[in-house]
Amino acid sequence: MATGTKTEYEPVIGLEVHVQLKTASKMFCGCAVQFGAPANSLTCPVCLGLPGALPMVNRQAVEYGIRVGLALNCQIAHRVKFDRKNYFYPDLPKGYQVSQYDEPLCFDGELQLPIHDASGQPKICRITRAHLEEDAGKSIHMDGSTLVDLNRAGTPLIEIVGGPDLRSPEEAYIYLNTLKRNLSYLGVSDLSMEKGSLRCDANVSIRPKGQEKFGVRSEIKNLNSFRMVRAALEFEIKRHEQVLESGGTLTQQTLLWDDEKQETRSMRSKEEATDYRFFPEPDLATFDVPREWVEQVRATLPEMPEKRLLRFLDDYKLSEQDAEYLVGDKALADFYETALKLMDEPRKVAAWVVGEVTRELNDRNAAIGDLKLTPEELIELIKLLDAGKLNNITAKEVFHAMVETGEGAMTAAQRLNKLIVQDDDAMNAVIDEVIAEFADKAVADFKAGEEKALGFLIGQCMRKLKGKANPKELGPKIAARING
Ligand SMILES: [Zn+2]
Repeated sequence: MATGTKTEYEPVIGLEVHVQLKTASKMFCGCAVQFGAPANSLTCPVCLGLPGALPMVNRQAVEYGIRVGLALNCQIAHRVKFDRKNYFYPDLPKGYQVSQYDEPLCFDGELQLPIHDASGQPKICRITRAHLEEDAGKSIHMDGSTLVDLNRAGTPLIEIVGGPDLRSPEEAYIYLNTLKRNLSYLGVSDLSMEKGSLRCDANVSIRPKGQEKFGVRSEIKNLNSFRMVRAALEFEIKRHEQVLESGGTLTQQTLLWDDEKQETRSMRSKEEATDYRFFPEPDLATFDVPREWVEQVRATLPEMPEKRLLRFLDDYKLSEQDAEYLVGDKALADFYETALKLMDEPRKVAAWVVGEVTRELNDRNAAIGDLKLTPEELIELIKLLDAGKLNNITAKEVFHAMVETGEGAMTAAQRLNKLIVQDDDAMNAVIDEVIAEFADKAVADFKAGEEKALGFLIGQCMRKLKGKANPKELGPKIAARING
């Protein structure tokens, strides 16, 4: 390489995502899965790891696992085998975690991202495997001491391991959002990063562009939001480049992200890496996963977002941006399609859902399910607007009131006194009043051919009518009055 030429590096990123499964009971015992219960109230001899207690597999958790696997285009294993992953931590009462080592439930899948690769094809990230395991408890550090809450111990998890296919922090961010979007269609998890039901670890290395061999890898933990994942990856890639550029050597290590300082710090190096001494879980027999079961689960899968997006584009002729936005939130897309059944005007209805409905959701930091608004009421409002009973401005005011109180469109419009009354006499009287008032100015200008003056006169009439008129109707009326 010529002196002074800077090596161009390419990041290689792979993500591991842990998803808590929303089953009624835990992975291997009958204790309830519930967030926020009094500490250690949801425990039994099995999840406390008491001697002699025997685990039993939660069928629903396995079924949810299959559901996730199928949605990620994975192969489903023919049998379920669990292994012990041995390590010591205060919130792990048994001294091992029951997981799946060499025979994951799901493997060889892929996730299509809503971005394109260099050849114009949709970017695909491989899903190496997705396996079932149990969650650990929680350590709570306070006032210099540590308390342990084992309510979470034994909660079913699926760990989704993505292939080393992501090439930038932004792609990692898109991968996570796409994965979360697709999982949200399955109804198997809350997917809440705040509650810890969705967690992510990131693996990253860099290599000179064009080189096949992977560089030395860092694993970053403690990433509590997708934004943090992106920031941590950006930081780590820069750090790797700086070390290599200055002739240093990287060592494989596990890092923690410090969001306050916006930097990673070392948790342990490869030399200190834990040897988990995996071995088959002797308390759980392996069992078969009949193909009929897999097919039954497949039959219950909803239409997934990639397919739904194409349908929204083809059938409803929405813009790509609107279609992607709607499909990104299953509940919102369902709301939209329910509304469409009442009014077959896809673009008009989409404009309301993507516009005013979304503005309310953002203002309230709410989901569509939290909003006091039904598709029926939204359509009632659009129909009032179409019928000329409201104008664009008053329709928005009425909409805001509907969301605030849960009233129907007509009720809210009447209460706010916004309905346009088609009283021609009253309207003509106002028009005459305004024409008289501005005879020397705007009216004269309009007569002289200045079209802009008409807008001013419409505005004056609207004011006197307290907004209860349709400006599109007023224009020709005023013009006719002046010219006639
Ligand atoms: Zn239990």
